[in-house]
Amino acid sequence: MNNTGNNGRGSANRPANQPRVYGTYDIERAKARNARPVAPVHRQQGQHYDPRSRGNYPSGGYKQNQRRAPSTRNNKNDDKFLWVLIVLVAIMAVVAIVVLFNFIGGSDDGKPTGTEEQTAVTSPEESGEQTTPEQTEETEPEETTPPELLAPVPEFTADLTAYEMYMNPTGEHRDAYLILVNSKNPLPADYVPPNLTDVKSTRKDGRKTQQLQFYAAKALEALMLEADACGMVRTNTPSGYPLSVMSAYRTYEYQHQLFYDTYLVAEMKKGYSREEAEKIVETYSARPGTSEHQAGLCVDMHTLPGADQSFQYQPEAKWLAENCHKFGFILRFPEDKMEITGGIIYEPWHFRYVGRYHATRMKELGMCLEEYVAYLENNG
Ligand SMILES: [Zn+2]
Repeated sequence: MNNTGNNGRGSANRPANQPRVYGTYDIERAKARNARPVAPVHRQQGQHYDPRSRGNYPSGGYKQNQRRAPSTRNNKNDDKFLWVLIVLVAIMAVVAIVVLFNFIGGSDDGKPTGTEEQTAVTSPEESGEQTTPEQTEETEPEETTPPELLAPVPEFTADLTAYEMYMNPTGEHRDAYLILVNSKNPLPADYVPPNLTDVKSTRKDGRKTQQLQFYAAKALEALMLEADACGMVRTNTPSGYPLSVMSAYRTYEYQHQLFYDTYLVAEMKKGYSREEAEKIVETYSARPGTSEHQAGLCVDMHTLPGADQSFQYQPEAKWLAENCHKFGFILRFPEDKMEITGGIIYEPWHFRYVGRYHATRMKELGMCLEEYVAYLENNG
């Protein structure tokens, strides 16, 4: 034990039993060393051992600790700096990932595909119900839709630039409003369209503000602005009201009430039997569930006190029939399509939103919605 009395602090140069009396000398030396640059000395010392070293390593020693003291503080500062750097780099990496993700996500949204027309229009009902137009409010219409898949932008008198994306939905939204609702294609009683939006042009005669699905409402807003710019919003009309919306979205319950409690009762009061009256009412009003008013994509608008075929002779009716496709609307029940539309009479006041692309094609093809949907299923 005594042979190793220095407890490992000794070195081969010092006898194990030698008292530590040379400290004074070493202290002076240490002071002298401290007065000089330490590092070079230390490096030159190599394996030098100083007995007052708090370290037990032969190559350590007092001088090394002396030198380490300040450098330890530096290391702490270095560590702090390193951590700050790591955190900064991490933040920058996260920001870069988020930006990259948004970029990729944004460019994918609404991206048209070559097969879109074929796939989407074969199931218009589905695409109509799955669409959530509000999601696209933040999304500009993509500029990559091939020109042949878009209707040409018409020249408007009013500045409708802000409405272009609603009049002419593109990408995945182009085919989202072709839903066919008629006596053969009813909606569920509990179907309520998404994103119902107030219709600004609801007639101001005390009636409840009418509503449409968002895109249809915005497109109608554009139509009314252009109608106004073209002198089609005037007050010297049969009703005294300018061109205005009498009815838009209707609930299943309201349609039920309308068909049975209003129209059917009215016809029966004329002396018809219930059966006869129902057949008559079916020509101008849809049974509950079979009205596209429940889809929130159509409006009845005119200038008369009530809907009447005589509206066709009003300048507004002529202007609408000629121009409605530019805003994405179609005259849903044309005069010569009664056989195909399920016996619905000519309704010059009823306009249905499908988007400009399809509205324009339908006009060019001379087809009503039933014909057009069948045409798309067969031809794409
Ligand atoms: Zn209608």
